[in-house]
Amino acid sequence: MALEEYKRKRRFEETPEPPPKVQKKTEHRFVVQKHDATRLHYDFRLELDGVLKSWAVPKGPSLDPEDKRLAMEVEDHPVSYHDFEGIIPEGNYGAGSVMLWDVGTWQPLSPVPENGKYVPGTDEEARHMLAKGDLKFRLEGKKLKGDFALIKMRGRRPGSKGNEWLLIKKHDDHAEQGYDIDQFDQSVLTKRNMAEIAGDERSAEWRSSRPAARGKLKAAWLADAVARMDKKKAAASVPKKASPQKDTSAQKKKQKS
Ligand code: MN
Repeated sequence: MALEEYKRKRRFEETPEPPPKVQKKTEHRFVVQKHDATRLHYDFRLELDGVLKSWAVPKGPSLDPEDKRLAMEVEDHPVSYHDFEGIIPEGNYGAGSVMLWDVGTWQPLSPVPENGKYVPGTDEEARHMLAKGDLKFRLEGKKLKGDFALIKMRGRRPGSKGNEWLLIKKHDDHAEQGYDIDQFDQSVLTKRNMAEIAGDERSAEWRSSRPAARGKLKAAWLADAVARMDKKKAAASVPKKASPQKDTSAQKKKQKS
C-alpha cells in the first residue's frame, strides 16, 4: 500500500531516484534434494513464509515442457533442511541418502502476463496461486532455470490422496527437449553421485527431530509410510533399546553391525 503511494507521488522519468525494488523481495531460496529412501524421488522445495513448501517428485523435475511430472505435496519442512546432504540413518523418518541436487532462488510470476510474457509477481500472488492450485514461478538454479508451473490435479482418480500436482516446464529459452535427469547424478554441493554419498563414511548424519511432530502429518500416504517405518524401527530395536540420542558415533556403529 505504502509503496503504491510512493510510486504515485514520484514520477520516475523526472527524477533520478531509483524506482522501488519490489522484485528483490520476491526472491526466495529453492532446493531440490535427490532422496534415495524407500523409493527414489526428488524433494522439490520452495521457501515461502519461513517454511519450505515441499513436493515429492518420483521422476524428478524436467526441463522438457512435454514432461508433466507428478509431484506429491507433502507437509512443509523447516528451512534448516535446505542445505542438507548426507545419510538419514535407518529407523528415522526418510531414512536413506540425500543429495543436494540443485539450489538457487525462485520467484513467483504474476498470474497475469504482460504483453504475453510472464513477469515477476509478489508473495501475495504466490499465496493465492498456491491456494488455487496453479503456481507459476521462475527458477534460477544451477541445474533448473526458467519458468515452471505447479498445477494441482483436480480429477480424483481411484486411490487418489488429493495431494497430486504436476510440475511442468514452460516454453522458454531454458526448455530442453528430451531432458534426461539421470544424466545429472551429481551434487551441486560436493559433486558426489548418489552411490558416493551412500558409501561415504564422512557423510553427515541427519538426526531427525520428527517423532514429536508425527501426529501432525497431513498426507495420509506419508503417515502410512512413517507408520511402517516406525514398526520396522520398533522391531529392530527390541534387543538393544536404550541409547542416548546424542551419541551419533554409537548409533553409527549399531548401523554397521
Ligand atoms: Mn524425501
